[in-house]
Amino acid sequence: MKKITIIGGGLGGLALANGLRLADVPVEVMEAGHYPRHRVCGEFMAGLTEQTIQDLGLKSCFVDALRHSTTCFFSKGKAIRTYALPSPVLGISRHTLDLRMANLVRERGGIVREGVRADLSPGNGIIQTGGNKPKAGGFSGMKGHWGDLETRADLEMHMGEHSYVGLSAVENGDINVCGLFKQIAVGEFGSRLDRFLATLERNGLGYLAKRLSKANLREDSLCSVAGLHYNSIRGHFRGTLGDRHRLIPPFTGNGMTIAIESAASVLPLAVAYAEGRLAWEQFLEESDTRLREQFAHRYRTANLLHPFLLSPSLQSILTILSRARLLPFPALYKLTHA
Ligand SMILES: Cc1cc2nc3c(=O)[nH]c(=O)nc-3n(C[C@H](O)[C@H](O)[C@H](O)COP(=O)(O)OP(=O)(O)OC[C@H]3O[C@@H](n4cnc5c(N)ncnc54)[C@H](O)[C@@H]3O)c2cc1C
Repeated sequence: MKKITIIGGGLGGLALANGLRLADVPVEVMEAGHYPRHRVCGEFMAGLTEQTIQDLGLKSCFVDALRHSTTCFFSKGKAIRTYALPSPVLGISRHTLDLRMANLVRERGGIVREGVRADLSPGNGIIQTGGNKPKAGGFSGMKGHWGDLETRADLEMHMGEHSYVGLSAVENGDINVCGLFKQIAVGEFGSRLDRFLATLERNGLGYLAKRLSKANLREDSLCSVAGLHYNSIRGHFRGTLGDRHRLIPPFTGNGMTIAIESAASVLPLAVAYAEGRLAWEQFLEESDTRLREQFAHRYRTANLLHPFLLSPSLQSILTILSRARLLPFPALYKLTHA
């Protein structure tokens, strides 16, 4: 049996590694960071099916995931409307989930190397799951966990100026606050928290900053990323999956799901390669085609809808439609998740 090397131990890489171990394929994951660690992510996972979780042997990782069923949209600090989610969305922190998935790979006999930033050029049996490759410009993301914070619905979505911020509970009851911003606050700040709150202020979300400053921040959970570009199709797809393949706008809560679904999709091809039934070149060709076809419409719809959350004038249209009960929320949800 040939070995598969996975570069990047995030959700896509670890999901694939788990699936490969279930099929007895030798697997080595190289991860630049160390588990457990917080990651910039809204930590609500929409559209992941029980079947996919089972196929990859990941059931134990989700044992205490929350099941969210409502979402409330806010504009200028005012609640616009609460919607029932067409199907439950999982709430679980990356701190917990990535650690559990890495441990499971090891329990199944796979190798997970931490603190290794691999720089392997493409080659037989190497799959790149290193997540977003930052590029100059684009959006920035910030997140943190807060205790003692009440929310109006399972998910709160706050629209700011060219930005939005989601609030949702994770498995230990803390609230994850995660935002996407075109502009972040720059200058001298006493702490990362001050910078986060100043960024909220700068983006017309000062009311949220006030709310957070009264709650109980889990200091070690604050993190940020930059250089996020949506709408851009990456030049080199072959041998990649998850965010390395393509980014979906985070309001969908579907990026984690796509990373895991991508792993499930390429798994039979990777097993076929490891067993010597498929040439590597064929693996690259077929996995790329499979991923493009499976997710193309989700990326397209999500990118069409994204400006409605970001641009103040389009947000007004969304608000009016929503207040008049004319927003086809279930249909739009379906288009971005199936
Ligand atoms: C602001 C924001 C909010 C989001 N909210 C949500 C949400 O609510 N729901 C949702 O489903 N999705 C959300 N997402 C998207 C989601 O986080 C990603 O789609 C998901 O993490 C992709 O998983 P991945 O495995 O492809 O990459 P990642 O999870 O990013 O993992 C990549 C891993 O590769 C490692 N790595 C990188 N380079 C190397 C290297 N050279 N060698 C070794 N290791 C390397 C990194 O350390 C990392 O651990 C959000 C994203 C952002 C930016």
